[in-house]
Amino acid sequence: MNAPIIGTPRVARALVRWFSTAARDLPWRRTRDPYAIWIAEVMLQQTTVAAVVPHFTRWMREVPTIGALAAASPQRVYRLWEGLGYYRRAENLLRAARIMAARPDGLFPRRFAEVLELPGIGRYTAGAICSIAFDEPTPVLDGNVIRVLARLRGLRDDVESASARARLWQWAQELVAAAARFRTPGACGRLNEAMMELGATICTPRTPRCPVCPLRRTCIARRDGSTAEIPRRPVRPRLVDVHCAAVIFNRNTLWYVRRRPEGAVNARLWEFPQIEVRRGQGVLSALKVFAGLRPDQLERLGEINHTITRSRIRLEIYRARSGSPPRAWAGQWRSLTQIRHLPFSSAHRRIAGLLPGTLSRREAAPTPGASRSATAD
Ligand code: SF4
Repeated sequence: MNAPIIGTPRVARALVRWFSTAARDLPWRRTRDPYAIWIAEVMLQQTTVAAVVPHFTRWMREVPTIGALAAASPQRVYRLWEGLGYYRRAENLLRAARIMAARPDGLFPRRFAEVLELPGIGRYTAGAICSIAFDEPTPVLDGNVIRVLARLRGLRDDVESASARARLWQWAQELVAAAARFRTPGACGRLNEAMMELGATICTPRTPRCPVCPLRRTCIARRDGSTAEIPRRPVRPRLVDVHCAAVIFNRNTLWYVRRRPEGAVNARLWEFPQIEVRRGQGVLSALKVFAGLRPDQLERLGEINHTITRSRIRLEIYRARSGSPPRAWAGQWRSLTQIRHLPFSSAHRRIAGLLPGTLSRREAAPTPGASRSATAD
């Protein structure tokens, strides 16, 4: 039974008031431009605020409008996206911009149903754009909001189950509808942003700061001491260890790189050719088999440890002192200037930083044992 939250208007008012004093000053919060809000919301999926801020700022400087984005080449868009991972998002931004630019008015649609039809925009993103840009009472439900609402309401079900999701959406809808009745301009967007902000800064996964939370008087999880058990999620499969090796080939001022194939992770980004080392094979043996390189032809430069979705990847980096890349690798020889403008995954951008004349070695150098957690990058 989906009963409304007791004191919904009071909760909504507490959230809106709290947000007006506690909100972080973020670049996308200084505008009501639906284009800017859309870009920020898509970037923020699966990515931290700290990583998004510089990307968002650069993006808005270089492609500040729907028209500018629609006219950009895919390669330029990928380059602007570089470092954020999950490149499908960048692809969808470009597709959606071209759809909007081709319409007679070329504007961002105002109606929720029309926003939802754009590629890459789901219920959450459409709700965020319509509430923040147009002050519509459309709910949002991301990981932060789920945590806040599940704890507020003491929801002990698996929050990924269909029934729990339906209840959470209903609660989110009731709260934003209550905010709409305040008749304060911008209240719907502020209510939604307040829930996201509360989840990001106060109602955090491990150590919620309940004593300073605006919802502390109505929160069931706080009252019951059950914040550690809520939200409940299904057990995730363990990470799979993957061992790879990348090889840098150099010919005069050119470097050998290739595009990752369609269907692969990070498809269409560029890389220094990399191979996967099978369990028990040994990296030097794999390089002999796949690249025809003997150990005396190789210099080990270091390794990068990172995670992509469910894979924990150890990427060893070698420089080929002699020899040529196998023809089957189908790569191309490119200059440093060209490499600077090509979109690379984060790991391979760091490898590019090892080439003489690029980034400082200190900035780029992978250090044995150093780890970096990436998204799909
Ligand atoms: S009182 Fe604590 S658990 Fe409840 S919403 Fe606030 S921070 Fe989260």
